Amino acid sequence: MTDSKAQLAGLLGEAKSIVGFTGAGISTECGIPDFRSPGGFWTRYKPIEFKEFTASAEIRREAWRRYFAIREAVEKAVPGRGHRALARMVEAGHMRRIITQNIDNLHQLSGVPEAQIIELHGNGSYARCLSCGARHELSWVREIFEAVGDPPDCPQCGGLVKSATISFGQAMPELEMQQAREAIANCDLMLALGSSLVVQPAAHFTLTAKRYGAKLVIINREPTGYDAYADLVVHDDIGDVMQGLGFE
Ligand code: NAD
Repeated sequence: MTDSKAQLAGLLGEAKSIVGFTGAGISTECGIPDFRSPGGFWTRYKPIEFKEFTASAEIRREAWRRYFAIREAVEKAVPGRGHRALARMVEAGHMRRIITQNIDNLHQLSGVPEAQIIELHGNGSYARCLSCGARHELSWVREIFEAVGDPPDCPQCGGLVKSATISFGQAMPELEMQQAREAIANCDLMLALGSSLVVQPAAHFTLTAKRYGAKLVIINREPTGYDAYADLVVHDDIGDVMQGLGFE
């Protein structure tokens, strides 16, 4: 076992209440490209801001076209080694909550109960009406989009229908933000995996954990702006790092 892996095993073994904090990097080995690594789907397109989505029918068509393109990779994906390790930690009672920036539903698919997952940026496996909040299935949106070339409006109130994810410029979900703060206030270690820690306010939760006196571990292939605050930083592949720690 490498030195950093032995240190990680020590910190995880000592902790009584761990909170996981995950980003797109935990899902790259599952075939879903992350946001910032070079060459990926996302580097080719400038993200669509929330106000652009609500202002323009053409932008909404483009948003849905992109969405259905990325869904093909997401729908094929199964949980990876990182997801499985976290699921075992939850099952064993070491990890109370997983706060995720991901929208790919892979923590749920790895067997973590819904109540223990906090999705800061929503979930991409369904859609919602922006006006009344009604849930709509993607298959229904897609069928209409492909038939008429436009996404449907909400049949209940006529509002705009958007994937149930949080876009840049869209308000953060209040309940999930509150749940995340509570989870962090009650943890003694935050394990952050696969996030560039650039997207705010989510990234700042690593510092919130430190302020509450918790230890902070960051596992990410590349350096992040929060590495200096961490008790342990491992710049390596998440699956390789989490394998062999007894959480298979
Ligand atoms: P990001 O792309 O900004 O950062 C991902 C980080 O993970 C990078 O620094 C990269 O070096 C690292 N990484 C990639 N593969 C890794 C691996 N196997 N092992 C270790 N490190 C690895 O992602 P972010 O910080 O989550 O922010 C992007 C935003 O885009 C989030 O808000 C998220 O909602 C969204 N997004 C989600 C998904 C998803 O749901 N899977 C995918 C892309 C983007």
